[in-house]
Amino acid sequence: MAKYPLPLIHLMSLLKKLPGVGSKTAERFAFQLLDWPGEELSHLSELTRTLKETIVHCDTCRCIKDQNDCAFCDETKRDTSVLCIISSAKDAYAFEETRTYKGLYHVLGGLLSPLDGKTPEHLDLPRLKKRLESHGIQEVILALDSTIEGDATALFLKDELQRLGVRVTRLAFGLPIGSPLEYIDGSTLSRALSGRQSF
Ligand SMILES: [Zn+2]
Repeated sequence: MAKYPLPLIHLMSLLKKLPGVGSKTAERFAFQLLDWPGEELSHLSELTRTLKETIVHCDTCRCIKDQNDCAFCDETKRDTSVLCIISSAKDAYAFEETRTYKGLYHVLGGLLSPLDGKTPEHLDLPRLKKRLESHGIQEVILALDSTIEGDATALFLKDELQRLGVRVTRLAFGLPIGSPLEYIDGSTLSRALSGRQSF
């Protein structure tokens, strides 16, 4: 039985590391790449080769940026009284997409997960506290995942931040837009019920 040439096997095993890519998709991607013009393959390889140098984390908020100043920390365009705490730099783009949030962001060093060795030290609290003190931030929005780790981290931060006299809020839990009630799981429905608002 003939096997794939070795470079193709290596390419497919790398592609399989991408989220949602299994063996069949990796095979399809690899054969698709074989059909790309050499120029585009060079461009792709150059972009990936230099990715770690061209995209860096902002020292202040830990969002990603290029060599220019961080757009998320631009005090001339942002409401500096509100800080949104997120667990991944990617989440900032989801909030930007809403076009309703104009405040600052703060990417945590991770979420609490004692079983995986993620303790409060991983959250880099001194960096967060320094920002709160130096920027006169009045409200902190906890925008963390609705998971056991996200909940544990939110509770921990609430206690820590309230001690500093800052208002702490958390994103509401609700029903996904466009979903019929019959498809909503019990815990989502229960959270939506407890977070109901006057109408
Ligand atoms: Zn920044």
